[in-house]
Amino acid sequence: MLSQAADGVWVHVSEFCQSNAVVVQGRAGVLLIDPGVHGDEMACLANDLSESGQTVVAGFSTHPHWDHLLWYAGFGAAPRYGTALCATTARDRLSGDVEAVAKAVGIPEQVPLDLIGQITGLPAETAQVPWDGPQVRIVEHQAHAPGHAALLIEERGVLVAGDMLSDVLIPLLNANAADPIEDYLAALGVIEGVAGDVGVLIPGHGSVGGADQVRTRIDQDRAYVQALRDARAPSDARIGPSAKDGWDWVAGVHEGQLQRLAQRSGPDGTPH
Ligand SMILES: [Zn+2]
Repeated sequence: MLSQAADGVWVHVSEFCQSNAVVVQGRAGVLLIDPGVHGDEMACLANDLSESGQTVVAGFSTHPHWDHLLWYAGFGAAPRYGTALCATTARDRLSGDVEAVAKAVGIPEQVPLDLIGQITGLPAETAQVPWDGPQVRIVEHQAHAPGHAALLIEERGVLVAGDMLSDVLIPLLNANAADPIEDYLAALGVIEGVAGDVGVLIPGHGSVGGADQVRTRIDQDRAYVQALRDARAPSDARIGPSAKDGWDWVAGVHEGQLQRLAQRSGPDGTPH
């Protein structure tokens, strides 16, 4: 089921980690951002679109994690974009036996893999998604995954945040980066710099928020990452008994993240 998030912008929510697929109305069809997860959900979305007379004219993946790289044949053969780094990372990770990769990372069986990751990388200087519709600004930054991009639809006042600014998931750092903590803080600064006029915030996972949530979630994510940086226990509503129903496992994700970061540091705390 599509729910309207703003004028000309809809969201289709997956059962998998409350993932948000985003539909943006253009002149000749729609842009589909992070199209969905389970096969039957993407079929439902394709059906909703065709019943309302819409065709998909472009796709965009916010980052190279499997749950943002999927596609469904019923969406048609529109070009699918991502940042250049997103596209090369996806290609590298999915080269070889995709089924084996899927098993290794625990992708659920209901996820169709045949069209995963077939995205065209946009050159680094590309400022906007190339399509016939409202301008969709690409706000690339280094956090969470290589080539991660938020999308800003200024004339609709909408920020599609990818896997940043969630009300249910803590910031998940790109542990392979040289300095994942400083990268994440810098990325939050980049988003903060463009988000002043945003009235609707759509995270990759979690609830759609209004203007007040933009500031709240930037502050919340920054506080979490600063706590990691300073080796303090974060006080974060997304972890522990205060987590929303069904999200108690995020505490385990936090513990795993602490371990990964600890493994990166020498005994004196210097990264190696
Ligand atoms: Zn992700």
